Order: sequence, then C-alpha cells, then structure tokens
Amino acid sequence: MKAADEPREDLALNTRSSSLDLSPAAMQELATQTTALVLDYFARISQLPVFPETSAGTTLRRLGAELPVEGEPIEKLLNDCRAMFDASRHNGHPRFFGYVASPANAPGAFADLISSALNANVTSWRSGPAATEVERLVVRWLGSLTGFSDKAQGLLTSGGSLANLTAILIAQRARSDTDASRTGLWNSQTPMTIYASDQIHMSIPKAADVLGLGRNQVRIIASDDRFRIDIRDLRARLEHDARNNLKPFCVVASAGTVNTGAVDALHAVAAVAREFGLWFHIDGAYGALAAMDQGKRPLFKGIELADSISLDCHKWLYTPLDAGCLLFRDETTARAAFAANEADYIKVHEQEPEESFAFWDHGIELSRRFRALKIWMTLRYYGSRKISEAISEDLALAQYLAQQISAAEDFELLAPVELSICCFRYVPRAARAKLDSASESELEQINSELDELNTRIMNTVQRGGEAYISNATVNGKFALRACITNFRTTRADLDALLDIVREAAER
Ligand SMILES: *Cc1c(COP(=O)(O)O)cnc(C)c1O
Repeated sequence: MKAADEPREDLALNTRSSSLDLSPAAMQELATQTTALVLDYFARISQLPVFPETSAGTTLRRLGAELPVEGEPIEKLLNDCRAMFDASRHNGHPRFFGYVASPANAPGAFADLISSALNANVTSWRSGPAATEVERLVVRWLGSLTGFSDKAQGLLTSGGSLANLTAILIAQRARSDTDASRTGLWNSQTPMTIYASDQIHMSIPKAADVLGLGRNQVRIIASDDRFRIDIRDLRARLEHDARNNLKPFCVVASAGTVNTGAVDALHAVAAVAREFGLWFHIDGAYGALAAMDQGKRPLFKGIELADSISLDCHKWLYTPLDAGCLLFRDETTARAAFAANEADYIKVHEQEPEESFAFWDHGIELSRRFRALKIWMTLRYYGSRKISEAISEDLALAQYLAQQISAAEDFELLAPVELSICCFRYVPRAARAKLDSASESELEQINSELDELNTRIMNTVQRGGEAYISNATVNGKFALRACITNFRTTRADLDALLDIVREAAER
C-alpha cells in the first residue's frame, strides 16, 4: 500500500517511453490514410482482375522480407498493403464464382475494425459482458433466420469446419456411455459411427479423424439423382451396423452441398435419426441461410428438428471472414461435453446465471474475438429483408445461368440447380453429336476427353483474370462449377462468364 503522501506518477500523462500509443496527429493520419485505402478498394473492386498476374514469391520480393528493427512511415506501409491488394484474388469481384465465397459487406468490414479496437476477449460474460450478450443475441437471430429455432443457443466459430468439429464432439459425448473426456474415444469397446452422404463436406471426416474416431467411422451413404442422401440406403446401413456391434451415434445431413448445392430431405433424415436414437446434425455452412428465401423454405422442411446446425455468415450473410456459427437446441449437452475439465482460473463465481455464462463451456476456444459485431452490424445496417433479397437474387441468377447453359448448344448442365451452384461443362459441337449415339466404351473415351478439355478451360479462365470458376466431380465427370453468393453479380456477368469459357475453349 502506498502512503497517501507518497509521490506517484501522473497517470494522465503517459510518460512511459515504451508506450505504443500514438499522438493525436499520428492517430488521425493512420485513420485517414487507412480509411482512404479501404474506400478506394471498395470503389475499384469490380474493375480489378479477379485473379492477379503473379507467381509464387512475387509479393515478398516486392515488399522485402527483412524483419524491421526500426519503425517505418505509414505511407510506405500502406503502399505495401496496396501491393498485397494487387497480388490478391478478389472474392468480392462480381465474376468470382469459385468455391463458396462472398464479398465482405462494408459495414461488416468496419465492424471488424471496431471489434479489434475494443479487443474484447469473448470467453465469457464476465470477460466481455456486452460482447457476450450480443453474440448470444446474434445466435438467436441466426436460429430464427434459418427457421431452426428463435430460441437457438450456440456460439460463433472461425468457420463451418470448426462448427462441424464442435458439433460432432458434442454429439459423441451426448450419445456415449463412457466418459470419453477421460478415457479417450479410441478406448471404447463399441466403435461409434457417423452417417453422411457421399456429397458430404470434407470437414466431417476430418472432424472424425481429429476426435480420434477415425475417418472410416464416417459411413458414406449413396446419394440419389438429385445428390441427396438416399434414405433407404441410410436405414439399411444403420441396421447392418447396429447388428454388427457398432454404435451409430450421429447422422449429418447437408443443407447445401458444396458440389451441387443439394439439400438432403431433412425431415426424412430427422425421422431416421429419431428412430435410431441418433444426434441429428445439419451442415448448412453454405446453404442454411438460403432458408431466408421464402420460395426455398419448403426445401428446408425439417431443419427445425435438428439437434445442431453449422452455418457460415461469411458465405451467405456476406460478412467478412471469419464468421462461422454452431447452433444447438440444448446447451446442457454442450456443457456436458466441454465443462468437465475446468481449471481453477477459469471458474466463474457469479451467482446470476447470465453472469456465469461462459463460451468455453460450449466450444473449443478460450480466447475469442468479438465476431458477433460484424454480423450484428450487417443485420442492423441493412435489415434482414434486404439481406434476404440479395440471397433471393443470387438464387434467381443461378437459375438464369442454368437456363443459358441448357439453351446453349455447346454447354451441358451436369446437375440440377437447387440453390446457387451451377455445374456444367463445355461440349464442342462435334463431341455433342457423338455423345447421343455413342456406345459404352466410346462414351468413356469422349467423357475423358471432355474432362481434359474442361480442366484446361478452368485453368485458362482462372489465370485469365476476367472470371473465376472452380470445379466439381459430378457422376464421375469433371464439371466447371459456378457458385453465386455475391451481391455484386448481375446477369451481364453470367453472360460474360459463358463467353469467357467459350473463348478459353477455343484457345
Ligand atoms: C464452407 C463449408 C464448410 C467449411 O466451412 P469453413 O468456414 O470453410 O471452415 C463445411 N461445409 C460446407 C457445406 C461448406 O460449404
């Protein structure tokens, strides 16, 4: 204890020589110049090449790689940031159709700045009271927007992969007789098995691997002609495994597969889950938010019956990365999975239940950034109606692209368009004529030539910088794949895409 008359430093004057605080003038300059850079990017993004003309190592040669000992002027650093922009792939470009990527909306991007400035560590209410309340609110909003439940509980994660991993862990603990947190999953006498279609995202087998269950414990079920899990096959496999001393514990349905955008018959999967006592998880990382479109709602019938759902706001809510989310119905199952090994220093001593709330009881991470703010900002700034209109337009554009492809002589649509993914291939007229009358072995030959041609087309398009598409394997065929989760894309961009693909084919 200091005596009252003891001299003390004046805390109002920041006299520490090693302080990292900026003078008001330097702070203003930093803010002005950084904002200018961001505004310039948002203004020019549609004019930039989708993919840069660059090769490995170029960026570091340009920026230099020496670890700086002394500080450098902000102009130089922002110039170097510009160089990074020049050597980036622009997911927010209107003709970026690869993978499942969407533009960052501006209010969401600025919200990330606010989050970083506040720097709340959202481990628990105690650690970040406001941020925790906002995150729990956003989780309920997402539960409501997807039609899952307006009382949803859950937490934000880096992305769908971590949400899926967390869900499988909770499911395993909820359905296991032994305390796997202590004995290890691999010590179980009866191997526990997961069920999902052959269209499932790779993060599910990966989760099984990480959790020590093993990838082989994910039973791969055939999908039907619309790439949805085959319910009869699912049931047969479950019966077979149960007879053979295995313990089925979880079924994962897809609400939007990454390959073709297929949505499993969720209500039918729910019925099987109930019958066999399985945890019912939905991987909706790509597609769950498409339930905001009234026309698509029926496709998601049964979503309200899930035990847990993964979704990604950095996909179809157009927020910046990273904004994954795991929703669940009952947080006691999450707490049962995670609250077992609390160290003393994270014990919460609050009496009020709200105030003893801790995300570490529900997930893997301890330190967590304030991810909810960009989602909150996005929904508050635009309102859910405007967001759902953007999603609806993406869906309509995918239908438009499918129509253009179906009507064209030199394109073939390879999968039904359920949401916003279009799988197609370029078929030269000569090959087209042969396809109809070809024998089995001729067909194989033609398909393999088309695979090669379309692979070359994809690479040419990607390198060309005018549009970006990725690929999928559809019924064994190489498909060009365009995914539209982009509020900047218009019909003209889709017309341009087909022309760009044709030009690449001719070369
Ligand atoms: C994107 C995606 C994932 C993985 O999500 P990340 O955010 O990339 O971790 C999982 N499943 C599906 C269906 C996806 O589209």
